[in-house]
Amino acid sequence: KAFLIGDTMTGGYGNGPDILHDCTIAVNPGEIAVIVGPNGAGKSTAMKAVFGMLNVRSGSVRLDGEDITDLSPQERVRRGMGFVPQTSNIFTSMTVEENLEMGAFIRDDDISGTMAQVFDLFPILKEKRNQPAGELSGGQRQQVAVGRALMTQPKVLMLDEPTAGVSPIVMDELFDRIIEVARTGLPVLMVEQNARQALEIADQGYVLVQGRNAYTGTGKELLADP
Ligand code: ADP
Ligand code: ADP
Repeated sequence: KAFLIGDTMTGGYGNGPDILHDCTIAVNPGEIAVIVGPNGAGKSTAMKAVFGMLNVRSGSVRLDGEDITDLSPQERVRRGMGFVPQTSNIFTSMTVEENLEMGAFIRDDDISGTMAQVFDLFPILKEKRNQPAGELSGGQRQQVAVGRALMTQPKVLMLDEPTAGVSPIVMDELFDRIIEVARTGLPVLMVEQNARQALEIADQGYVLVQGRNAYTGTGKELLADP
């Protein structure tokens, strides 16, 4: 029923020990799902497993009902997964607009409509479209990274710590933009260090501890004082 689910995933890096233990992460249509938990809990690892950057030793990943466990990240992008890694690798010497065009590399149709949608969601990018991306502030660069992922017209958007290293005000602004993205109907899955703020905007929250699901519930439930 979930649009994207990493189901009871167990796995680790290379031949190393298991980092994830029966970890389940899902995002439903039109919802924001957030993965939180202490440093080293396996949040990024869970995201990598869902995106195919880490092989799961048991468990599965399904996208829109289809088993994609054995597909490469590239193939997952083609199936509709948009992924914004933690250290966003935008091209600093290229303009904002050129960065967005690069995002559409898998498409051979007209991208101008999608570009206009991205500019509607991120007005600052429209204003600065002809500036080198390296001249933008940290928060604005994050918007470029998210906008670039949207240029593929993904069916689900995955973000690994989109607010890492930005000020509280910029974090609020980024979350507002992410809410806007979700309102367009796009399911969003993100890893966040800023647990409280992230759970406030989450429909579904996953608290990971030592690679296991410690708590799962709505954002409200997880924020409530038991
Ligand atoms: P979190 O995102 O919750 O901070 P991570 O998923 O980054 O946690 O890390 C979980 C565990 O996996 C940590 O023990 C970390 O050292 C280990 N780990 C992360 N990346 C790698 C890697 N590329 N190779 C080996 N171990 C890794
Ligand atoms: P996070 O904020 O997700 O915990 P880290 O700062 O721990 O990320 O890790 C940064 C990078 O180093 C990531 O690409 C991660 O995969 C890698 N890494 C983390 N721990 C290890 C490890 N024990 N061995 C190898 N690579 C690691």
